[in-house]
Amino acid sequence: MDRISLKEYREKRDFRVSPEPAGLASKEQSKRSRSRIYAIQKHQASRLHYDFRLENNGVLLSWAVPKGPSLDPSIKRLGIQVEDHPVEYAKFEGVIPEGQYGAGTVMVWDIGTWIPEQDDPAAAIKKGELKFALRGKKLHGSWVLVRTRGYGRNAGKSWLLIKHRDRYASKRDISIAQPKSALTGRLLADIARDEGGDVASKAKWRRRAPRRSALR
Ligand code: MN
Repeated sequence: MDRISLKEYREKRDFRVSPEPAGLASKEQSKRSRSRIYAIQKHQASRLHYDFRLENNGVLLSWAVPKGPSLDPSIKRLGIQVEDHPVEYAKFEGVIPEGQYGAGTVMVWDIGTWIPEQDDPAAAIKKGELKFALRGKKLHGSWVLVRTRGYGRNAGKSWLLIKHRDRYASKRDISIAQPKSALTGRLLADIARDEGGDVASKAKWRRRAPRRSALR
């Protein structure tokens, strides 16, 4: 697979409808900036998950992490590698319209830079073990992504995100302790409300007309 291609990313989306970036300038941008972007987006789609992104070769390598990162080195969090995203996606916060790919609300939960702990990150990824340090607003210190056996459609795309033991390791549940946007301080519901999305699936449910049987 061509790692620097955004073909799959673009094919899945209609940029006339979704406010997400098309990523036309990502290669240019990446050449200009020295440090590599790191971001985690909290994404309330059909299921809530966290999208873990590391800039490499002009794109954001991306993993969907259902439970989000854990600061506890004994906890391994599954991450399914998904299509590369454009670099400017790292700062995308808003609502993907209903009917579009990934429809729902996106929050920039953490943002910063990352430093590979190996000489050639592309080779490390190919080999299935990437060690790196994060310098985010919420996550810090040393981490590893290890490829693991995946089944069915996730074969070859399943990874484990694990915190290394260092002074940033903790038993604290960071996703609960720090639920707000690293960019704007908003909660998912605030973003949904501000950007015209559904505030919560519960709200959607409440708006439904009561069933006839309930009226009798
Ligand atoms: Mn996502």
